[in-house]
Amino acid sequence: MNVTTQEIPPEVLALLALPDVDTLTPDQARGAVCAWCPTRLLAETAVDLGEHTDPEAGRWWPRACGPCVGRRAHHALYAHVALCEPCVDDVARCEIGRTLSRLVRRYRR
Ligand SMILES: [Zn+2]
Ligand SMILES: [Zn+2]
Repeated sequence: MNVTTQEIPPEVLALLALPDVDTLTPDQARGAVCAWCPTRLLAETAVDLGEHTDPEAGRWWPRACGPCVGRRAHHALYAHVALCEPCVDDVARCEIGRTLSRLVRRYRR
């Protein structure tokens, strides 16, 4: 198993809006292909999206390409900041805001 440097916390993953496992191809469900686009992933470029459990499909480990994560994090950050009081003052004071902006900085092109 490859080890990722940064884990994305579940509350942030929820904001990135992962697709339902039953809408994914088997390659996407096992993390060989980006969960959001047809990009085939390499260990060094894949972003780990954690372990998920589905009542029917069982456990699955989606991964994504950097550009998809950056784009999703960017959208999620905008949506979050509009609703989050601490973020209105300063994103750095909010764990979710901080994690999302870190993802945007890291992956957005
Ligand atoms: Zn992608
Ligand atoms: Zn916030």
